[in-house]
Amino acid sequence: MPSEDQLLIQAARTVRQNAYAPYSGYAVGAAVRTADGRVFAGCNVENASYGLSICAERAAVFSAIASGARRITAVALCTPDGGTPCGACRQVLLEFANDPQTCVVWVVKPDEIVGRYTLAELIPHGFHLRNAPAR
Ligand code: ZN
Repeated sequence: MPSEDQLLIQAARTVRQNAYAPYSGYAVGAAVRTADGRVFAGCNVENASYGLSICAERAAVFSAIASGARRITAVALCTPDGGTPCGACRQVLLEFANDPQTCVVWVVKPDEIVGRYTLAELIPHGFHLRNAPAR
């Protein structure tokens, strides 16, 4: 595994410790690497009004976008049990993936690598608008 991917996985594991998940007890951390080499991390943040909760992956992506990045080249996700991204997060990742065929998604637990996918494998028939911004 490339050392840059090891760093990405470590970032996901570290940020998971900040997850706010008092309702589900399912703490998640995510990290995304952008085309310019920066890493952005996010954790899930739940709310008493459950529907207002946000997943770790989207928190990480939105942080990257807010910092001026637009293209994501790799993702790491750390969950208690090796869970993969939910459908909503797959679609959001697709919006900003530099290339879904090469965008790697590492799925890990705190102490174990569980899986390595490409984003194209996780969302093979994602939603696209014809007038989507050019990549
Ligand atoms: Zn999600």
